[in-house]
Parts: sequence; C-alpha cells; structure tokens
Amino acid sequence: MESLKLGDIEMFWLNGGEFELDGGTMFGVVTKVLWSKKFPVVDEEDSARLEENYIKLLNSPLLIKTPDCLVLVETGLGNKLSDKQKKIFRVTRDWEIPQDLKKLGFKRQDIDYVILTHCDFDHAGGIVMRNAAGGEELAFPHARHIIQKLEWEDAMHPNIRSENTYWPENFSKLKDSDNLQLIEGNFTVCNSVEVQHTSGHTRGHQIVRIWSGKEIAYHLADLLPTHAHFNPLWIMAYDNFPMDAISLKQKYEERGIHENAWFTFYHDPFMYACKFDSQGHVVKKIAHEAAQKTVASKKDIPIQYLNVQKENQIILSCPDCLLVREMSVDKHMGRKHFLTVNCPCGTTYGINLNFRKHYRKEVSIGGYYTADDSAPGWTDDGKLPSVSINCRIKNISMGGLGFTALNKVRVQVGDRLKVKFTLDKVPPEIVEKEVVVRTIKDYYIGCEFIEESGYTDRTLGFYLMK
Ligand SMILES: [Zn+2]
Ligand SMILES: [Zn+2]
Repeated sequence: MESLKLGDIEMFWLNGGEFELDGGTMFGVVTKVLWSKKFPVVDEEDSARLEENYIKLLNSPLLIKTPDCLVLVETGLGNKLSDKQKKIFRVTRDWEIPQDLKKLGFKRQDIDYVILTHCDFDHAGGIVMRNAAGGEELAFPHARHIIQKLEWEDAMHPNIRSENTYWPENFSKLKDSDNLQLIEGNFTVCNSVEVQHTSGHTRGHQIVRIWSGKEIAYHLADLLPTHAHFNPLWIMAYDNFPMDAISLKQKYEERGIHENAWFTFYHDPFMYACKFDSQGHVVKKIAHEAAQKTVASKKDIPIQYLNVQKENQIILSCPDCLLVREMSVDKHMGRKHFLTVNCPCGTTYGINLNFRKHYRKEVSIGGYYTADDSAPGWTDDGKLPSVSINCRIKNISMGGLGFTALNKVRVQVGDRLKVKFTLDKVPPEIVEKEVVVRTIKDYYIGCEFIEESGYTDRTLGFYLMK
C-alpha cells in the first residue's frame, strides 16, 4: 500500500473501489484532443473501447494517522451496489476498506473521524456497509462523521439532478445517530487536520488541509480530482458551480504551490499525490503501483515500428540500454498491433507491429544512387537537384528498396551502393541508405538495406504505416 510521511503524520491510500466514467464528463468543455493526451481512454488499442470513451478512475480514501487520532477522508463506493449498479457505473474493482485497514493493523472501529468532502455516492458510498449477516450498519461505528451542514441539507433533499448521486441508503444509519457532526465553514478536526468549506463542486463541498510542522498536504477532493485537472479551466461537467470551482481551484493551487504542499488525489489512476511547480508540472509524485504497467500512455514512451519477420519473430532493441532480444509474436498474429515491452533495465517502450510480410509501398520518387561517395549536394529544403537524379525509387519497405536506373546499369548483384532520396511527405525528409544489390532486371535494381540487426528506421516506419 502506498503511503506518504508528513512530519509525524502518516498517510495511506485505501481501495475504495474503481470505476469508469465518460472521459468527456470528467473534463467538461475541454476537447478530447487535449485531455486524451494526459488521460488515455481505457484500452485505447481496442477500437470498440476507444469509441466508448470511458476513462478509468479510482476512489482512494485517505487514511491519516496522526500521533493522536485516525482520520479517514471519504469512504469510497461501499459494498452495497447491486450487480446492475455495478454494471451501470462500470465498477472494475470492489471496495476493500476493511481489508486494507486490517493490512495496516487497524479495525473499522478504530477510526476516530470520517471526513466527507461531499455526499456524492462515490465519496459517501462506504458510510453504511452491508455486513456479513446481510444487514446494514455504519462502517465506522466509533467515528464522528464531519459534513458541512449545507451539504447534508442538499443530500437529504436532493433535486432532480442531484438525486442521481445523493442516495438515501448511504445516509440511513447516519441520519439519526450521534456519529453525525454537521459543521458550518472551517473546522479543526484534530491537531493536524482541518476542513475548509469551498462549494464549487457542490454547495457544501469542503476540502481538507493536513499539516505537520512545515509540511502540508491538501486534499482538494473533486475540485482537483486528478493531476490532469491542474489547469483551473479543466473542470468536470459534474461541477454544480463551475465559475466557483475555477476560482477556488486557482486559489488553492496557488496557495499549495507557495507552501510547497502535496496535493492528494481521490480519483487519479496514475498517482495518489504530487507536488507541482508554478507551471503545473508534476515535480514529485506518489505513483499508483499499477499505473505504470496498466495505464501506461502510448504517448509517453518511445515507439518502434517493426515488421514481423518469418516465423512471426521480431527483433527488439531497447532504446535505452540497447539490449537486443528476439521475441515471438505468434499469439498476437494479426490481432494486436501495439505492445508495450518492459526491458530488464526498467525502460518501457512500445512497439507497433506490421504483420504484412515484407510490405512494400509502391512509390515514384526521384533519387540518386552511387557506388562511391560522389552523391551531389542537396538543397536546404531537402530537394534533390533535378539534374542529379539518376534513378527513380519504385518501392520501399523496412528492409530494402527497389529502383529503376535512368542510365545504363553498371552494377552487379552483391555490390554495395549508397541511395539517397527525399520522402514525399510533409515535411519532406532525406533518406540516405547503404544497400546491397540483391536483384537486377534490365534497369530495375532490388536492394536490401545494410543495417545492424534490431535497428529500426522510425522515419521509414512512420512513412510505411500511412
Ligand atoms: Zn463529486
Ligand atoms: Zn468524486
């Protein structure tokens, strides 16, 4: 379990259940072109899943262990969801708070305070739990539950929109109990934990400030649900008071960055907490253990384009440590085109497979071939002076090319040549290859590239994928 030490305080993130929400609603008016760079859609290699547009979200209640008390911030999805509800909300991992507490040596009964930043079902679902006997009870029976009075009133009298998220069953056992403590405005929970009323997301939304000496952390809850929501304008469509949410986020981000504080995230599948610099770059983070493996974004890792060779083998070469290894892609044949590879050196890189054996792209590009170093100079824009063209490239593959010579051929099979041409793409790119002649037929010469094994020409790779 991931944790963070803050002076004499220890913080842990528990599993409050995982689910999926539409990427669009999580980023409000921000276009997918922008948000998907920071937050990939689940299984984005799977075109059907990509079209569905769901993103994975965590619910990570924060356990704060101070020298004198145990505070739980949020309660997760709980264990009362029916199978149908789990389907609707696409729950991919169940609530495991009691189990997580046990791993840390605690019981549910040990929690002194439960802070609810607001009463949406994804935060309040674990207030009341189903017990082993099938009945319902308070999950944290000895805890005082700290909720803003405004929030509680709204949760008790939901409107046509909020009744989708304020569910009576989450409050049933709390309503008439002594465990409920309604507060107004800012409130000190214990020595190192206080809440501040914000509104923005909901009318009674509150945030949590945690400190020990000079070390500080902010749990901004749904004002900053993930690190990708740093831009004050990137707010959720769920926010009830968007303009307030924007200015509150601005205010707390400025304050937190000024205080060199940690920001903790309740919904982020990539990291539980981070520190930002003033530009909003993540400079320190507590990453989610599984994040790097399961939701590694294609955009953040180097990608190689590989042709699958005979017998479905590919030769991999790590871009960092240059370790070369052979791998069979039998089981991916014709199906999965993108794979991530974890090199023993710790680097993760992506490979895009081209299953079309010896795929050759038909082209018609003026070029120059020579058996010595007499290739003429090129103009700055990559154009070959037309007078120097002595061949026309007819086809290109990852392994070689074929061209027709414009004059009488003086080469033989086995000769080494240099071939130079400019790819007909935007921007144009000069390609210069050393080749060995494999076939000659009249004016047509078929060549194979002379390259170290495992070398991948990314420029050509991109060009051929188009
Ligand atoms: Zn919410
Ligand atoms: Zn939420």
